[in-house]
Amino acid sequence: AAKQAGGGRFQMFEPDMQARVQARRCLEADLCRAFRRGEFELHYQPLVNLREQRITGFEALVRWRSPDRGLVPPDVFISVAEAMGLIVPLGKWILEQACADAAGWPNGLKVAVNLSAPQVCEAGFEASVESALAASSLDAARLELEITESLLLRETEDTVTMLGRLRALGISISLDDFGTGYSSLSYLLKFPIDKVKVDRSFVLAMDERAEGAAIIRAIAGLCQTLGIATTAEGIETAEQLRNVASQGCTEGQGYLFSRPRPASEVLAMLTEFNAKRLP
Ligand code: C2E
Ligand code: MG
Ligand code: MG
Ligand code: MG
Repeated sequence: AAKQAGGGRFQMFEPDMQARVQARRCLEADLCRAFRRGEFELHYQPLVNLREQRITGFEALVRWRSPDRGLVPPDVFISVAEAMGLIVPLGKWILEQACADAAGWPNGLKVAVNLSAPQVCEAGFEASVESALAASSLDAARLELEITESLLLRETEDTVTMLGRLRALGISISLDDFGTGYSSLSYLLKFPIDKVKVDRSFVLAMDERAEGAAIIRAIAGLCQTLGIATTAEGIETAEQLRNVASQGCTEGQGYLFSRPRPASEVLAMLTEFNAKRLP
């Protein structure tokens, strides 16, 4: 009976695997077509300077508006786009679109663009950043590039010197999701970084136990000593906002201020933010 049951499980397994491979191929084909048809769009979420209580810029967050699947979040397709190489042309489009959008914003507001490791390691990357700036006439000082620890882990001499050249143009570099990867504090000394984005998981941990606040305080304190800004990600409550500010984070981002919204709503987000006092 056991053997029979085992056989039964095996039989159920195989079609399941097949279905997954099939679904993946289908997603890849859909993504290619979606890119050709221009179905990707950028949404924007405010970055808030906590001391000045002011929006200083917006992070660009890509979405896929699929006729069949609805509005698809990046977690569903970025890793697939990376694996199939689509991230290179898609990432180039994201940079161009974000720079073009930001060029129309008032008061020198900045735009932060997320980068994928395979995109940055590709030979034409540096030129694509320069051409996105040139095409939009956006001042380089208004562009922030968000990289992750995984990119620094691959660390080739070339990547680091390239980041240095981009920085020399006036672009700033943020280390995203800090603390979720290998979280080596030595990265902060070794690499040219302007800002650390403390992952949302630490903001959540802070609610639960005092040690959570201690971690944020330690990161913010070290960064301050090194002249690096710190953004707390995923602030949803007034209490979290008070806490991250009192632990020394310089900037915040989260649903408390605003969810990411379409490019056409950037001015509305600014007006709404200015109209309501922060808690
Ligand atoms: P990320 O760069 O860390 O972006 C922050 C994510 O947290 C966004 O999810 C944002 O909507 C979400 N978020 C912001 N505030 C809150 C909050 O208060 N609570 C909660 N629960 N979540 C919050 P999103 O837009 O789904 O993006 C997920 C990830 O996908 C991004 O994480 C980034 O790693 C990647 N991604 C997004 N856009 C791009 C892109 O243009 N290029 C690349 N390479 N990756 C992207
Ligand atoms: Mg990011
Ligand atoms: Mg992040
Ligand atoms: Mg994060």
